[in-house]
This record gives sequence, C-alpha cells and structure tokens, in this order.
Amino acid sequence: MSAVALRKRSSPFAAFGPSSIVSPTTPTEIAQILTDTRRYPSPVRPFGSGSSTTRCATANGGTVIDLGEMNRVLRIDRDTVTVQPGISLAELAEILAEEGKELVGGFDLANRTVGGAVCAAGLEASIAGDVGQFAAHAVKIKVVSPTGRKLVVGDSSKSLITLLRLSYGLLGVVYEVTLRIRPVRGFTVQTAHTDFKEFAKLGPRLAVPGSGLKLYLLPFRDHIYMELRRPGTSSGGGKKLAWRLKDWAVYSALPGAARSIAFALPIRQLRYPLIDSLSEAAQTLIGNPFVRSGSNAVEQSGRFRALTGKSRFTYCTWAFPAAEFGAVALAYKLFCKEHYARTGFRCDMPTIAFRLNQDRSALLSPSFDGPMITLSALSTQIDGWDDFVLDFADFAAKHRGVPLFNQTRNVTSEYVSSRFDRRLAFFSRVRRELDPHDRMLNQYFAAYMS
Ligand SMILES: Cc1cc2nc3c(=O)[nH]c(=O)nc-3n(C[C@H](O)[C@H](O)[C@H](O)COP(=O)(O)OP(=O)(O)OC[C@H]3O[C@@H](n4cnc5c(N)ncnc54)[C@H](O)[C@@H]3O)c2cc1C
Repeated sequence: MSAVALRKRSSPFAAFGPSSIVSPTTPTEIAQILTDTRRYPSPVRPFGSGSSTTRCATANGGTVIDLGEMNRVLRIDRDTVTVQPGISLAELAEILAEEGKELVGGFDLANRTVGGAVCAAGLEASIAGDVGQFAAHAVKIKVVSPTGRKLVVGDSSKSLITLLRLSYGLLGVVYEVTLRIRPVRGFTVQTAHTDFKEFAKLGPRLAVPGSGLKLYLLPFRDHIYMELRRPGTSSGGGKKLAWRLKDWAVYSALPGAARSIAFALPIRQLRYPLIDSLSEAAQTLIGNPFVRSGSNAVEQSGRFRALTGKSRFTYCTWAFPAAEFGAVALAYKLFCKEHYARTGFRCDMPTIAFRLNQDRSALLSPSFDGPMITLSALSTQIDGWDDFVLDFADFAAKHRGVPLFNQTRNVTSEYVSSRFDRRLAFFSRVRRELDPHDRMLNQYFAAYMS
C-alpha cells in the first residue's frame, strides 16, 4: 500500500469535495482502495483531467481516485495501442505520430485523458464511416469493479464492453485501454458560411454522413461557419505550425481576448460587437489555405486546448436529431436573442456544433437512436451563465435534445428517463449488481440511476 499516497485536500480537487485523494499506480492498489471503506470513504470517484462541466466526478466527503500517475503507453501494435488511463490524448497522439500512426477520429479538447474520454461522452466531427465518439474506438478495457474484482472486457464480450464505454466510472475504475489506431491518414477541410435561414433549408440532408461536420454559430451576426472534412488523398497530414496557430486562435487567443474585453469594456453594447468581430476574424484563420488539409496526428496534438488560465471558458452541450437540426439552429438563434433582451446575458464565444454519426457502441451513447448534431454554448463570463443554462435546458427539452452526463447541466431525472428510457433502466440494473453497496455512486448520478 505504500505507493498509494493519500494527499491533503489540495486546490485542483477542492471543487470535487472529497475527504481523500489517492493516486494509485497499479490495479492492485485500485482494488485496495475500493475495498477499504474505512480508510477511503464512499463515494469513490475516478478522476481523469477533471474537464467535465457537470458533477459527474464529484465525491462529496468521499474519495477521488486521481489516475494521473497511471499514464504510460504499454504496447503499440499494428492496429492497436494499449495505454494506462491517465495519459492525455495530446501526449498519446504525439507518441503515435512518431511511429507514423494516429488515433481514429478527430477529437477536440486534446488535454482530456484516455480514461475520461472512454468513460464519458466525447465529441468529434466524424468523417463518413467514423462514429463520432472516442469511446467507440476502445476494443479492450480492463477495469477494477466496485467490489475490487479485476475484469477484462473485449470486443468478444460485446454487451459488457457496450456497458463500459460511457459508464462514467459507475461500473468500476478503468486501468487499461486498448484503442484502435491506423497509419496517419490525411483529410481535406472545406469551409463555407451561410445565414441561419439558408442553413435551415438543408433539412434532413444534415443527417447524411457524407463528410465530417463542425459548425461555429454566431447567432448575433446571423452567421454559421461550416467546416467539412473528407478523407484526403495524401498521407502528409497537414502543416503542424498552421494547425497550432489555428488552435491557438480559437482555443486560447479568442477566449483570452473576450475576457480582457469584458474587463476593459463593461458596456455590453460596445463589448459584444467587438468580440463578435474577433470571432469572425478567427474564422478567416480556420479557412486559411494551410489548414485545408490535416490529419488527426497533427490536430490531436493541439496544446492550446487547456481549460485553465486566462483563456478559460465554460460550456454546456445538448445533442439534437440531425435531420431536425436546421430548424433547431434557427430556433436557437431566436432563443439567444430573446434571452439576451430579457436578461442582458449572452454567450460571448461562438456556439460549436458537431455531427455525430449513429453510434451503438455504447449503451448510453447520445446518438444511439440515430445521427445527432450537438450544440455547445460557450462563455468566458460566469455572471448570468447559470440562468442561461437553465433556459437552454428548457429550450433543448422542447426540441427533443439528448443530454450528455458529463457536459449537460440542469437536466431533471424525469427528462433523462424519458430520453434514455429502457437503456438507462438496464444500465441501472447492471450497476446495482456490480455495485450493491453504492460504493461509486455519487449524489449526481443517484438522481438519475434510481
Ligand atoms: C471548456 C471545456 C471544453 C470542452 N470541449 C469539449 C469538446 O470540444 N469535445 C468534447 O467531446 N468534450 C469537450 N469537453 C468535455 C470533456 O473534455 C469531456 O467531458 C471528457 O470526456 C472528460 O475527460 P477527462 O479526462 O477530463 O475526464 P473527467 O472529467 O475527469 O471524468 C469524466 C468522467 O469519467 C470518469 N472517469 C475518468 N477516468 C476514469 C477511469 N479511469 N475509470 C472510470 N471512470 C473514469 C469520471 O468519474 C467522470 O464521470 C469540454 C469540457 C470543457 C470544460
């Protein structure tokens, strides 16, 4: 047990409310933590990089298992890589790139951990054939169950691996993951922009998985910027420096500038037009010729997607049926304007959307029933954000939105039951069997898992 360090409540974890924080280095230590209820009080919550925006990893009065020290690459084979859960996607992408390999799927927010991305919803602009969620690419998962048993779950035990992907640390602590990889493959990026009314005319065509689709919505400028990705012919993989510059502009410079402008220009009638102009200027960087081709190997190693420092922002995501998304986007523009007129609050960053292809690889997948398009409202400002998120939840419920347990706030348990229905009931039953004493169940999930 000596390698299990019990640390004092320290700042990065304070928001998660635990009385103990432990950093195991082996699965045996994880099992010891889970079985020692006196020393490590319940609830026990695994922790990746803590980038989720809900209380999914909160452990009030309980124990946080920080997996940051289990961050090694264990094996690289021809089509797979086996890693410990605490490695970040950015780090893994760089290691694989040295071998001429890349992770399948283009994943935003590269600083999250493999464990967090397999156990929680993660979005991407999925190119035809890819499903749009990181977890789908996990072909083998090793987990210590809530009662301390080690389980190995592979593609051959299909129903079990379907439960473990997006299991939010409720069925055990993942300590090893084998992921599908492939040789670095290029893609091409085409950009375009339109207004909300024209976009709505796309109707059901938005559900066709022809190309990867990422959108930047500026409701107050009536502009939607589209980024379409298609498999490329070259394996070159794009210009690293140009992609880094794009990353820096969108994920660091823009939020940083928005925060500074909010500080320097308190009059919102002056502040927001200026920030919107900067957002539009950032779009010209996205459309620049040097980022018209890329690869996951280059994009995933983005280092500017940090969630701390001056550029930090918060956000809330809902997923909507793709075929109805044109109308949803139009209604969203009106919702944002109405909310601003009524409350004086609006999001200062562009809203981001991804199309997720249908994905049945996880029981709690948000696109289980069909292709979805997500809407992530982003803001660097906190005053007024909570009320916005509440109204956004009402808006989403009216438009058949599906919540993501790690990215959507203010969702009632009745609404969750109605959207996940029998899938959630089945997941809850299995959870009760694997965790009869609710060792890993926190308050947040207790509301949904009854
Ligand atoms: C500002 C911001 C921007 C974001 N942008 C995006 C984006 O563009 N696209 C996107 O998809 N997501 C985005 N996210 C969401 C976030 O990256 C995801 O929620 C991610 O999956 C979490 O990874 P993590 O390592 O931080 O995990 P954590 O937040 O630490 O944990 C997530 C969940 O997984 C569980 N867990 C973690 N590790 C393990 C393990 N080893 N075993 C069992 N359970 C485990 C935790 O208990 C928790 O329930 C964003 C979040 C923020 C705050």
